[in-house]
Amino acid sequence: MSATAQTIDRISPETNLFESILELIRRTSTILPDDVVRAVTGARKNEVEGSNADVALNVIGCNIGLARDSSLPLCQDTGTILFYVHTPAGYDQLAFEEIATEAVRTATKKGYLRQNSVDSITGKNTGDNTGPGSPVFHFHQWREPHVEVKLMLKGGGCENMNAQYSLPHPDLGGRDLKGVENAILDCVLQAQGQGCGPGILGVCIGGDRGTGYGFAKEQLLRMLDDTNHDPVLAELEARVVEKANQSGIGPMGFGGKTTLLACKIGKLNRLPASFFVSIAYMCWAYRRRGAELNLSGEVSNWLY
Ligand code: SF4
Repeated sequence: MSATAQTIDRISPETNLFESILELIRRTSTILPDDVVRAVTGARKNEVEGSNADVALNVIGCNIGLARDSSLPLCQDTGTILFYVHTPAGYDQLAFEEIATEAVRTATKKGYLRQNSVDSITGKNTGDNTGPGSPVFHFHQWREPHVEVKLMLKGGGCENMNAQYSLPHPDLGGRDLKGVENAILDCVLQAQGQGCGPGILGVCIGGDRGTGYGFAKEQLLRMLDDTNHDPVLAELEARVVEKANQSGIGPMGFGGKTTLLACKIGKLNRLPASFFVSIAYMCWAYRRRGAELNLSGEVSNWLY
């Protein structure tokens, strides 16, 4: 390749996009967002000094610092690689998918992501975190002139703690807010000691089984310290966190006052015949970051 061709290649939108996504992956895998760090640090103040909960939160804090300082993955569990992308009409989403998938391969080679994607039948590791269903892309069009990409790495241990309830439920109640609250608190109870708490919940009230789980996970894209614009849901979020933190489960199930860092709830319309409550349980390694990109693929603004 001639020098001129190399120069053109270096500044091509494809190259810019590749570099931007690669850096997004590095940041997401190795540096927890400030709102999460603030929540973990703040929670420690509520625990008795030297208690199991205090020690567990301290270890988590040390992990966060080590990963950030050495650009190493926060956890050996890479998690499901989830891209949420908004693009203007006419944008080539297929090209984005190809370039982002290549960036995942390179990030794995560079050690930003541990090799963590296996064939579902044979269990054979694909070695580069790609394959059917990995990474996952959720594309949406919007009327803004730029691209927004958010990336979440959702661990397998916490994914195992997700739960979906169909109301009415004989032990949890009917198709009302009380039934919803009981379902969410039951999920927290079932997860105790598993899923690497303290947890963060994304919840969807309504939808069907598939869209409910997807929308519940999307709630985890919200800032931890935001307030739900729906006052009824805002109250429910606060109530769930307060009651969960009175349960005594604590971080890693070691006891204490920090069982949940946050609960984020959204709602979708449902059919009169069904009422699902879908819950996405996120662990302390709450890896989500994002960026706004111009149409040349360059980052104009980092998110979170
Ligand atoms: S659930 Fe989270 S903290 Fe636990 S192993 Fe998986 S990614 Fe790591």
